[in-house]
Amino acid sequence: MRSYSLIAPAKINLYLEIIGDRSDGYHELAMVLQSISLADQIDIQPIGIDTIIVRCDHAEVPNDHTNLAYRAAALLTKQFPEAMAQFGGVEINIKKNIPIAAGLAGGSTDAAAVLVGLDLMWQLGLTQSELEVLGAQIGSDVPFCIQGGTALATGRGEELSPLKNLDNLYVVLAKYRNLGISTIWAYQTYRQQFSQTYISQAQDLETRQHRVHSGPMVSAIMHADGSAIGKLLHNDLEKVALPEHPQVLELREAFESQGVLGTMMSGSGPTVFALTESEAEALRVLEAVKTQIANPELDFWTAKFVSTGIRLAQS
Ligand code: ATP
Repeated sequence: MRSYSLIAPAKINLYLEIIGDRSDGYHELAMVLQSISLADQIDIQPIGIDTIIVRCDHAEVPNDHTNLAYRAAALLTKQFPEAMAQFGGVEINIKKNIPIAAGLAGGSTDAAAVLVGLDLMWQLGLTQSELEVLGAQIGSDVPFCIQGGTALATGRGEELSPLKNLDNLYVVLAKYRNLGISTIWAYQTYRQQFSQTYISQAQDLETRQHRVHSGPMVSAIMHADGSAIGKLLHNDLEKVALPEHPQVLELREAFESQGVLGTMMSGSGPTVFALTESEAEALRVLEAVKTQIANPELDFWTAKFVSTGIRLAQS
């Protein structure tokens, strides 16, 4: 049985609107998600014994059953015990390039890669939508990470409508190395401060749909209008994260001062990204903001928008 190497891209949120509470305890969301070329590499190899081993080259990523990649393998083992019995267990090696607890879905994309890789290795023959349904059991971002590209995500983020691929935009990302924002904290704090604006579960679908303001962003994407996309970036979670973390606001302002298409915190943060129309412009902005803030704790990356989710690495 052969080994598989997979590329697992990070995502950014071009749009994140919190619509209201759901009866399952999650929030009802309207998001526009975008895959970028910053990616982890996941190597999966058969080991012959009935166990799952996870290794990661990043000291802060757990190697035990709490790793989302492990959880993905465990879920498939539970669903398809005969596959584990026939083919044996696996060793999963994660080469981590995506910063952790960064709002870039790093753990979710690793889990997505394990679902796709094990489906191939164990010859399960699952369709993409079957993989996405399994992925949603691990985390709301996992289905998007499998599918990738540009998509409108509703429900708790797992109901996806693909949008026109945007492959002409570039992004600069920056994150303070020792600053992590817990996703749970961000949503709980938002609920405490803004739940009076929520649409309740009981209100009808039409009211809920009228509340969603993502239409102009979707239209800008359909026209591949980078300048409009930049102006329409939106993330409700900035309302709780920026007052709590002034250095994230400072970073956002530094990007803004460079005349980028637009800048925003991704997901629950604390990564801030800025959009540009070329790689050269992305590199210029990176150097300018690095000089402006001059903090050795601040890490930068540049990446390109990509139109694929999990894919096999070229060997
Ligand atoms: P999201 O954008 O989906 O909220 P995130 O990018 O903010 O995710 P992750 O990088 O997925 O956050 O990590 C969140 C926590 O999950 C980490 O602190 C880490 O302990 C744990 N974790 C479990 N598995 C992984 C993994 N494969 N990679 C990174 N972190 C993982």
